Formats: sequence, C-alpha cells, structure tokens
Amino acid sequence: MKPVLVPFFIPHLGCPHRCIFCDQVKIAGARSVLPDPAELRGRIAEYRSAAPGRALEVAFYGGTFTALPIEDQRRLLEPLQPLIACREVQSVRLSTRPDAIDPGTVSFLLSMGVTTVELGVQSMDGQVLTRSRRGHTAADVERAVSLLAEGGVSVGIQLMPGLPGDSEERSLASLRRVLALSPSFLRIYPALVIDGTELADLYLRGEYRPLSLDEAVSVSKKMLTAARKAGVPVVRMGLQPTAELEAPGVILAGPYHPAFRQLVEGELMYDRACELAAGLPAGSEVTFAVSRGKVSDLVGQRRLNVKRLTERFGIRVAGVREDDALAEGEVSLTARESERM
Ligand code: SF4
Repeated sequence: MKPVLVPFFIPHLGCPHRCIFCDQVKIAGARSVLPDPAELRGRIAEYRSAAPGRALEVAFYGGTFTALPIEDQRRLLEPLQPLIACREVQSVRLSTRPDAIDPGTVSFLLSMGVTTVELGVQSMDGQVLTRSRRGHTAADVERAVSLLAEGGVSVGIQLMPGLPGDSEERSLASLRRVLALSPSFLRIYPALVIDGTELADLYLRGEYRPLSLDEAVSVSKKMLTAARKAGVPVVRMGLQPTAELEAPGVILAGPYHPAFRQLVEGELMYDRACELAAGLPAGSEVTFAVSRGKVSDLVGQRRLNVKRLTERFGIRVAGVREDDALAEGEVSLTARESERM
C-alpha cells in the first residue's frame, strides 16, 4: 500500500531565480513561508489520526530545498528525526534543482533520513534549458542523479515538454537521456502559460506558442510508452487541478486539462483497440477487455473512443469489461460477425 503523503509546500524558497514558466504560488496556492517545527509536527499528527496504521511520507515541494540555507534545511528536517526513529514517519521526499546537489548535500540528506529526491529537470536540451532560463545543464542532471543514486537515494525526474525551443523530437530525446539514468520515476508536466511569468510575457508578445492539447497528449503518449518500455513508472502527467490554478486568468494558454493523464491513457487504449479492430468485417459486434481500472480509459471521455472506433471500423461496441488476466494497459477483443451479413 502506498504511504500517505504529508505535503509541505515551500514555494520558491531556495530558488536562485525564477524560471520563465514558474509560479509555484499560483500553481499550489501556498504561502512562501517555511513551516515551523510545531506546524510540521501538528500536520503530521493530523495525517496520522486520519489514517491510523498507514505509513506516512513527509514531502517538501515547490522550492529548491537543497539551496535553502543549511540552518533552514535543518529546521525542516530535524523535527522529523524522532518521528523517523519511532517509525511514525517512514520516508521523506523533497524537490530540488540538479545544480543544487553535491556530495556534501547527499551525505546531509542521507543523515536526515531523506529517501527520495525529485529533480526539476524539464529538458535535457541545451537550447531549451537556456531559453527557459533554467540555469543548469544536462551534465548537471547526470551528475546529480549519479550522486544521489550512489548514495542510495531514490530519484524522481520532472520533465516539461513544450518549453521555448522545444519540439517533439527534442522532448523525446530528453526523455531518452533521462531514461538512460534509470530514475525511480518520472513526472511529465506539459508547459502551461501562467499569468505573471516571463513565459506569459513572451506569449503575449507573440514570441511563444504553447503546445495545443492534442500536441501535448501526443508527445506525452510517446513519452509514457517509452518510459513503460524502460520499466520507469510515470507517476503523474499534467498539473494537479487546484482551485488556485483553475481560477479565472491564472492559466493564460497551454494544454491544461484537469484529467490530462486520462486523455493520454485513453489515446494509448484507442491506438491498441484500433490495432485489434483493423480488418474486422464491418458490422461486427465487439467486446473489449482491459486490465483492472482501465474501462473508462478505453471508453474515453464522453465515450469518444467508442464513437471513433464505431465510425472508423463500422463495428458495434457491445461492451468493455475488466479482465484480471491482462497486464496493465493491455486490451483484448472478442468479435462476433453480424448475423445480418
Ligand atoms: S522551476 Fe523550480 S527552480 Fe525554477 S523557479 Fe520554479 S521551483 Fe524554482
């Protein structure tokens, strides 16, 4: 069973500058203030009583944790030590930048019981990194991942297709370089234009065009397929819908959808269903089977996939059922020719 996440947002704290696409306050709606030890302990206790018996994982998101002054890092991690020692907290994760990891940082994180580090990588393409003013290189990513992995820290990597200078080929090339580092997991967040960012200025001046929703789904689908082939889980696709993010005027443009992952999974299912349905006589009555929990992905939002399959192949989709014998994402089909034919 997955641990219950106890999240603490520290928007932009530790960040050496603002990357052109980023406004963590608008995305997560949290204050840029370090939680004090009492707040940390209080929140953990709340989650403990809401989920008795479940493992807890404390997570610090939204800033550059390892670029905070060391006394602030201690202020956040030291109150956790007794809770880690008595197994009240099972694991700790934090997010940071690749250029804010060095051997001393890794030793410190290990001494404080940090188990997972998420690196904001966004791209491995030099031009994209420069134009997004990330301030680090692909070599920094490779160095950071290898230092963390050598220390036994689990590494997650965040990628952001669709930044200035990016293309589908560059996004896929970035993904291949990242997969070669064997990260523990990935997150894929297609770039959005958030009000007040430098990317918004570029967009409003007509100097940046974000991906359309279809383009973002298409590149994310290819990325998800490649990651699955490499055995690397993609734990999130698209930003978490929040009231702050969805407030009018926050997202100026870009491929936002509150169920972005379902769109991507639905497209993958549709592709697989097309392969299976190709060559069936028109009028066939078809029942699809999918792995557990994937019926709505195959059916598609507003039954889009069923409608597309019906129109494209002239078949009748009699139903979609779960089959526990199928591996995750697999689809099978049984067909009966129409008796009228
Ligand atoms: S992308 Fe990361 S490093 Fe850049 S401003 Fe946002 S939180 Fe800070």
